[in-house]
Amino acid sequence: MDGRKYRVLLVNPPVYDFAAYNLWARPFGLLKVAELISGYGFDVSLIDCMEAYLPKRYGTGKYIFTVVNKPQVLRDFPGLYKRYGMPREEFSERIKISRPVDLVLVTSQMTYWYPGVEEAIETVRKVLGKVPIVLGGFYATIYPDHAKTLGADFVWRGEAGGDFIEFLKGLGFKPRRTEGKRYWEFDSGRSFGIIMTSRGCPFRCPYCATPLLRGDFEGRPLREVLDELLAYRELRVKDIAFYDDALLVDPERHIKPLLREVARMDLGFRFHTPNGLHPRFIDGELARLFKACGFETLRLSYESVNPERQSGKVTDQDLRKAIGELEAAGFPRKGIGVYLMYGLPGQSIDEVWQGVRFLMELGVKIHLAEFSPIKGTPYWHKLVREKKIPEDMDPLLTNNSVFSLLFWESERKIRELKLCVRRYNQALQGRALSNTKASLP
Ligand code: SF4
Repeated sequence: MDGRKYRVLLVNPPVYDFAAYNLWARPFGLLKVAELISGYGFDVSLIDCMEAYLPKRYGTGKYIFTVVNKPQVLRDFPGLYKRYGMPREEFSERIKISRPVDLVLVTSQMTYWYPGVEEAIETVRKVLGKVPIVLGGFYATIYPDHAKTLGADFVWRGEAGGDFIEFLKGLGFKPRRTEGKRYWEFDSGRSFGIIMTSRGCPFRCPYCATPLLRGDFEGRPLREVLDELLAYRELRVKDIAFYDDALLVDPERHIKPLLREVARMDLGFRFHTPNGLHPRFIDGELARLFKACGFETLRLSYESVNPERQSGKVTDQDLRKAIGELEAAGFPRKGIGVYLMYGLPGQSIDEVWQGVRFLMELGVKIHLAEFSPIKGTPYWHKLVREKKIPEDMDPLLTNNSVFSLLFWESERKIRELKLCVRRYNQALQGRALSNTKASLP
């Protein structure tokens, strides 16, 4: 080295999918890696191919895209396949102006987004030549062998902590502890802020990878979380999305003390919970704290009307009670979103319709969530055991837009279900007058 700092380029690749919408999505893991290594003297720059989108309500919005050819394995599926994010030429130019670069770290998110990862690695290689490239993130953790075929020099599994710094030493770098930057300082898209107050979850839903990747629930010190919120306020960020998997667990020791403090400080944020909240933890006090703190988007996890599938985390009674408490605190029912899953192994479409009816009776907004299997989860193993899917299935087929069509129900029945829910939601918001309940099967 010529006395300069090591320069590391971090890349969040573009996305190839049938549909993508920025619902407070940021590459949180990558931003945390930026924070980590900047604290060891690395000079970090980040190219986020997904920063380009058209912000709409509360900072959410549509990504820019171009329509592309479908990969062979998706050829027979309906719908346009698209490349979302920064145009390729612009990405190349951004890499060029980042030079010199000593190391590139590429992240990956959904397992079926690997074509974007492959493209990013290829582009980096073309511009920077032999620079070492490390591929990490969710896809690389779940499919390390598959990830090794995409052209990176190394595949990193799991979160990056002290062991990642040791790994960098092994590559010949000499990290030195120093004052680093915080993760939000690397974030190019500041239409909203993101925050994670805890990691992990005590529940064990058979379709979810959180227990595998992040283990049991562990709350972060509240002072740290409050300091992050204060930093966002300094930056004049208005909307904050919680990234916790289980934000409300252990409420008396975690979320309630935090929100009491947020309410007292009157920080003026609008808070959003795109990850579903556990209804069983919502009591009168918590509902009032949500209101006092400025919670704007509330989404609850319900998943299924079938008690066997509720995995001990929610019951119909929990949901009913939570909605009652939220309404009493001033949240209109029609603004409360509830997740309902379809396409689960062994689930009939009638079961989903029953769930739809139940949620319609409650008068809440329904968010249908398509199941797709994540390698390593109990449902993945069940499907493989029952020979419903092959162990070596192309990750592209785990795309939630195609999995239910391929392995669950006919396109016609799924379309009917989605249409009915869409009409109901529109009617709920006063945008249509149709009598949706009368049209239920
Ligand atoms: S409660 Fe949510 S985060 Fe926890 S295991 Fe179930 S789906 Fe995953």
